[in-house]
Amino acid sequence: MKQASRWSGPAGKTALIIEKLFNRETFQKEAFAVTAKCRGEVKFKVIRAGDTAYLQAPLFTQSGLVDHAFSTRLGGCSDGPLSSLNTAYHTGDREENVIRNRRRFFNLFNYDYRDLVSAVQVHGTDLDVVKLSRRGEGALPGTARRECDALVTTEPGLPLGAYSADCQLIYFISKQRPLAALAHAGWKGTLGGIGPKVVSFLQDQYRVSPDQILAALSPAICPDCYKVDEKTAGLFQSAGWNRTPYLEPAAAGSYKLDIGAINFAQLLAGGIKPENINRSRLCTSCRSDLFYSYRRDRGNTGRMIGFIALKDQTGGRVL
Ligand SMILES: [Zn+2]
Repeated sequence: MKQASRWSGPAGKTALIIEKLFNRETFQKEAFAVTAKCRGEVKFKVIRAGDTAYLQAPLFTQSGLVDHAFSTRLGGCSDGPLSSLNTAYHTGDREENVIRNRRRFFNLFNYDYRDLVSAVQVHGTDLDVVKLSRRGEGALPGTARRECDALVTTEPGLPLGAYSADCQLIYFISKQRPLAALAHAGWKGTLGGIGPKVVSFLQDQYRVSPDQILAALSPAICPDCYKVDEKTAGLFQSAGWNRTPYLEPAAAGSYKLDIGAINFAQLLAGGIKPENINRSRLCTSCRSDLFYSYRRDRGNTGRMIGFIALKDQTGGRVL
């Protein structure tokens, strides 16, 4: 895509490039045109496994390069509003419940939940490269060290995780070299362009061409369920996201915000080919049977987990 050339700045200039890009009216029009053409993009698959279920991006499964999934709330041991497969400690759940749920989830993919690496998510756009020596950082209560919203690794067998209940998780792999990344994007991360920031980082640090990157956008809250106030809407309008499907006036003083559409457009603008993106259209708020939703449940809810791990070169795990 011709937009890709705009991203090929020197390392360290990423923020500036993003700022320039998002303020360009031409970029918005081009991104929207491509988005409109991509209505038929491949969605995630929902896979049943006993009394639980998880989602996978077909492009990632077919690549054979990674293990990955996005969890649902089904098949866990947590009670009440956290029922039942809550995977996050900061929800008021009992720690032993979260541990049991994580063990259950990771056993589905033959991973040890104690190997998981996850960060303290702060709705920012910082990213962190994770080495094997940090295996388990974030697996048990109080062990997450780094405050950031995107993790990158080149280490086979190291599962990266992120949590969400309405926010979108963005998965990345490269067809050129062993490399996996996982980002967490709520409205702040989306506004900050965490998706293209990861793309730019992979390009600058690992010489990965954006057109060789596969990306997947997890379920997230849909615009009908996600109304924001004028102040938040104004930030998106200022950044150029001032039209359908990104932002649309709703009732007086409120706007429908589509973080999935914006993240998708940003990835395209970052140079990822539309056919290399899988996007789930499932809404975390609409689908109370499958997902937790922070907005729907007014904060009293659990979290889904997304994970990704590179396979070793023989297609199996190394741990
Ligand atoms: Zn919805």
